[in-house]
Amino acid sequence: MQANTAAQQLLEQTFGYSAFRGEQEAIVNHVVDGGDALVLMPTGGGKSLCYQIPSLLRPGVGIVVSPLIALMQDQVDALRQLGIQAAFLNSSLDADTARHVYQALMRGELKVLYVAPERLMTPSFLSTLHDIQQRFGIALFAIDEAHCVSQWGHDFRPEYRQLTVLHEEFPEVPRIALTATADTPTRNEIVERLGLEHARQFISSFDRPNIRYRVALKNNARKQLLGFLESEHPNDAGIIYCLSRRKVEETAAWLKEQGWDALPYHAGLDATVRQANQQRFLREEGIIMVATVAFGMGIDKPNVRFVVHLDLPKSMEGYYQETGRAGRDGLDADAWMVYGLGDVVNMRQLLDGSDTPEERKRLERQKLDALLGFCESTACRHQAILRYFGEQHPGNCGQCDNCLSPVDTWNGTEAARMALSCVFRSGQRFGAGHLIDILLGKTTEQIKRFNHQSLSTFGIGKALNQAQWSSVFRQLVASGLLSTDMEGYGGLRLTEEARPLLRGETEIWLRSDPPDVRASSSKAER
Ligand code: ADP
Ligand code: ZN
Repeated sequence: MQANTAAQQLLEQTFGYSAFRGEQEAIVNHVVDGGDALVLMPTGGGKSLCYQIPSLLRPGVGIVVSPLIALMQDQVDALRQLGIQAAFLNSSLDADTARHVYQALMRGELKVLYVAPERLMTPSFLSTLHDIQQRFGIALFAIDEAHCVSQWGHDFRPEYRQLTVLHEEFPEVPRIALTATADTPTRNEIVERLGLEHARQFISSFDRPNIRYRVALKNNARKQLLGFLESEHPNDAGIIYCLSRRKVEETAAWLKEQGWDALPYHAGLDATVRQANQQRFLREEGIIMVATVAFGMGIDKPNVRFVVHLDLPKSMEGYYQETGRAGRDGLDADAWMVYGLGDVVNMRQLLDGSDTPEERKRLERQKLDALLGFCESTACRHQAILRYFGEQHPGNCGQCDNCLSPVDTWNGTEAARMALSCVFRSGQRFGAGHLIDILLGKTTEQIKRFNHQSLSTFGIGKALNQAQWSSVFRQLVASGLLSTDMEGYGGLRLTEEARPLLRGETEIWLRSDPPDVRASSSKAER
């Protein structure tokens, strides 16, 4: 109980917060009492306090292992402003500064020390730690971004694998591992790799009930965006994510022309411009930040009322993190995304064309597929997101697009077979646009050039219109029956998964598209 009151006092007097959030208090008490903990909490949930307060309450210095060199400085600055003796050690420090940090550590003057994993694991640093432990004590080891031990994640750090040494050499020092990446395989791997079998697990819900998720088909993205902004967020702060720097600049400039207070942000901008735009977004009301994913890490603005995706994020984790920057204050906020077949093809090409190792590519493809599956899903968005993170949700949130207007599905088996056989017969190297022309029986220049009017699939698809076929192809790509070729022309080819359908062994149910998309022409896609 005493720890409890002391923690509460620190929270109020040092950090300036009136109450712990969610599981924070239970975690703090557990670690203050010397227990090991595994903390799963969404980004922005408040993980830092979970090790900062126990570091202050226990004797000695709290050692925080973090791979994010760029964020260490910020964290340390923030702690120092609160009057807490904090420092960091990583490769960005010059020898002189590093020596000062060592000296402060050896004099027992530090309460929190952030260390990069490769530095921590050096024999000399470990022996320093033994020294410190004997003289002042080590309050705890915090292992931030603990998912970095996972070989299957984006952020694998081989040095994280060696962190079990901490437990072997300092069995009496409590360890707290923290991550916002929560799928079950990763969680299990963290436990196994860090030897946390006996740690208590604190799993916060990843649900963001105040975020209204909507995913719409790209029809005329700019017109759709204007409609969304005008009708729902005429004066609000929000973030609009785009894939490329060029698109960021173009979109920001165009919004400005339309009279919106929009600013660009991407890693290619001059640092001073970037900094100035970020400051305006944080300090002024109603600014729209048009940005690449470079924007957002460590940005803590509670009243972001909407996050728009004009391009697909790379994965469900990405989508969750990026949309999660909306509505930190708990008030209603919108996550609004538009996407089309062009995006899917683009993303696949980016992936296929990159020089990442094949194993990693396969993983990234799976992640993209999961995201596309989410886009095409007919289930409650909250439920679909949480399912991805291994959490249950009853569904029927009553405010996502799928709950508000349940999607129609139709038996697309026959259409899918036509589409697949059209891909096959034309040699598996054409994009959706050309394939649709074949199905609709159009005699375009390109059709004539390849003599495709003589194909058996020519003109067999007239029962559907252009937009409907576009939807069929998009869903076939999304569900992995078609994939794009490696040469980079966006040609579609069959995958193994297409076989059962072609052989008549399975059926496929497709999502019907909204009427306004059906009526529109295909060139409106981008
Ligand atoms: P995470 O590391 O989980 O992404 P942080 O530790 O950076 O989250 O905290 C996110 C934001 O929430 C920070 O601005 C932090 O100051 C704030 N915060 C954390 N705990 C509380 C609390 N108990 N009350 C109010 N604000 C909090
Ligand atoms: Zn819902």
